Amino acid sequence: MIPYGRQDIRDEDIRAVLDVLRSDWLTQGPAIERFEVDVARYCGAKYAVAVSNATAALHIACLAAGLGQGDRLWTSPNTFLASANCGLYCGASPDFIDIDKRTYNLDADALEVKLQLAQASNMLPKVVVPVHFAGQSCEMARICNLASRYGFTVIEDASHAIGGSYLGKPVGSCAFSDMTVFSFHPVKIVTTGEGGMVLTNRDDLYEKLMLLRSHGMTRDPALMDREPDGPWYYQQVMLGFNYRMTDIQAALGSSQMRRIDEFVARRHHLANRYDALLADLPLTLPWRRPDTRSALHLYAVRLDLGTIGRSRRQVFDGMRERGIGVNLHYIPVHSQPYYRQFGFKAGDFPEAEQYYKEAISLPIFYGLTDIMQDQVVSVLREVLQ
Ligand SMILES: *Cc1c(COP(=O)(O)O)cnc(C)c1O
Repeated sequence: MIPYGRQDIRDEDIRAVLDVLRSDWLTQGPAIERFEVDVARYCGAKYAVAVSNATAALHIACLAAGLGQGDRLWTSPNTFLASANCGLYCGASPDFIDIDKRTYNLDADALEVKLQLAQASNMLPKVVVPVHFAGQSCEMARICNLASRYGFTVIEDASHAIGGSYLGKPVGSCAFSDMTVFSFHPVKIVTTGEGGMVLTNRDDLYEKLMLLRSHGMTRDPALMDREPDGPWYYQQVMLGFNYRMTDIQAALGSSQMRRIDEFVARRHHLANRYDALLADLPLTLPWRRPDTRSALHLYAVRLDLGTIGRSRRQVFDGMRERGIGVNLHYIPVHSQPYYRQFGFKAGDFPEAEQYYKEAISLPIFYGLTDIMQDQVVSVLREVLQ
């Protein structure tokens, strides 16, 4: 089976992990700091905080933004559950903004309209989480303008988008947001096994994120309410978690970061080939915005169900039966049974729902060879004919 996504691990990655296993530190130690510096430098952000996964990263980013009971968090319905669940962890109410027809990212026009209405009824969100679907940045300049006009915090869910850029700035620079979150799950662009990170340029958020990652405790006398009792002393100054990443994972991450541009370049090569090889089929191919460079985590096509004469399920099953591990991104979050309790129902976000009916993600990953890709294309042709 050719999977839809897969990590690329080389001998140098394995050596980096073995070096940590032979060292004095296994959990949060010097490799974490190196990895944080590597990612922050690459993205041009001031601070990076490594954590156990992107879900934890979203959680502490929301808490650092002050999200709590009675607040509202808005995100895209076309995302993984975690982009909305992070609001629920904080006791906030989730809501969604429908997606743009061409990028499948949350629609900045729809966001603006919803903000105007929310202001009139005093229901403005405290946090908005734009999700860079498939690795392509949302329209961050517009979202950033709306944030200053309406006073919400912007947390970019860039789980798909490390290695991409927008208006010439790397995703993760936080040029248009308060914080950016990355995931290092094995199907993503760069992996640490499990792992996540929050980037920010703001000193106040960085301080909170560092506390939240590790039990809310500090050894910094400047943050304590009195003189330390001695060198052993620490204080808990807020309620935090154990969301630490290990040095084992961070060493893998730093080693992977050396090849990030190579990873993304390969994905562009594959996407360009798909664009050419699939052009004559009854599909809508992914649109790439001219002002962004996608990291191309996904290559999601839409089936023209009116002309192909078979269902998406038939196409999906046909591909899987022939050894092509297609996938589907995403089931709209608001349609999940758990989200019904918040009043969401079918028809609330029609673009995301229509997209879900037609979408299929084709394999795209660093190790996918041109020959394997040709096989994906010929199987898709066969299934569609
Ligand atoms: C993968 C993913 C997450 C969660 O990442 P984990 O590291 O697995 O917690 C969150 N949001 C999006 C959009 C994702 O794709």
